[in-house]
Amino acid sequence: MEHLLALLEELSTCPGPPGGEEPVSQIIHRYLKPFCEIRRDGLGSLIAEKKGTSNRPRIMLTAHMDEVGFMVQSITVQGYLRLQALGGWAAGQLPGQRLHIHGSRGPVEGIIGAVPPHFKKGEQGELKIEELLVDVGASSPEEAVFNTKLLANKAWDDRAGCAVLVAAMEELGRHPNTVVAVATVQEEVGSRGAVTAVECAKPHVAVVLEGPPADDLPGIAKDSPQGALGKGCQVRLYDPSTIIHRRFWEWVTGLARRRGIAHQIAVRQSGATDARAIQLAQGGIPTVVLGVPVRHAHSHTSLIHLDDVQATLALARAILEMLDEKQLEKLLPE
Ligand SMILES: [Zn+2]
Repeated sequence: MEHLLALLEELSTCPGPPGGEEPVSQIIHRYLKPFCEIRRDGLGSLIAEKKGTSNRPRIMLTAHMDEVGFMVQSITVQGYLRLQALGGWAAGQLPGQRLHIHGSRGPVEGIIGAVPPHFKKGEQGELKIEELLVDVGASSPEEAVFNTKLLANKAWDDRAGCAVLVAAMEELGRHPNTVVAVATVQEEVGSRGAVTAVECAKPHVAVVLEGPPADDLPGIAKDSPQGALGKGCQVRLYDPSTIIHRRFWEWVTGLARRRGIAHQIAVRQSGATDARAIQLAQGGIPTVVLGVPVRHAHSHTSLIHLDDVQATLALARAILEMLDEKQLEKLLPE
């Protein structure tokens, strides 16, 4: 448990915007090197292979290393920096936040300018303080004082997935297949890294590990939440970019039920993952997406629940240890 917590902290604290994932890949490389054969593709994704008792099936277990970030677009004559967003930010969440600029002479801290209320004219489009909610990760007034399983840090999308990737490989027992652990670059700008990484990994099936946005905040889910903190691994069935392979999905959710692994099924009406690029490669690759729900994703600080990390890890491990050639044949139609 302490190892998993240390891994989560090290990975989420590390900087890694799209195109700048090298520090994250160095950490993953360090953990996987003792028992995997590691190479990189031309864009920087890390591909770590571990052969089990068979060459088939080749299972791609993957998480993206990049987090939403920025690039400096220009410097004004007064010395302010202008930003180019890398990934989906909401501009309204940014004023007053700190950030690090990783230049050639090391990191420099900056503060995103916020106009103080004294200089503001009118109230159009302004948030009201009484509309803001403070999240301490509780689901009741009693819990609001003592929940120790919540982890707050930046970049849980998708360093939570990266931590599950590393831990699943470390804890992997006998496996009747070959596992290719892939840490991709540039997911947040449209799954560019997955396009090239899947060509190198050459998998028969793929398991994408994600940090999808939690929808258990007040007013977000129309009906009951499908990504609630503490309710287990989110197993996606649909998002606008991917209809999940039905037989593979049924086998995975059946496995979760038989093993008593907490999980929640999601039909997402927005968003996309590396699954969209992977499933379209090599004539079509059956792919599932497992997620650790992340509250306040794509902002400066996000929140996850340790139980969800462990449920996702347990399900990923179960897939890797159970998916053999016979099972692969059952997944693919005659
Ligand atoms: Zn993500």
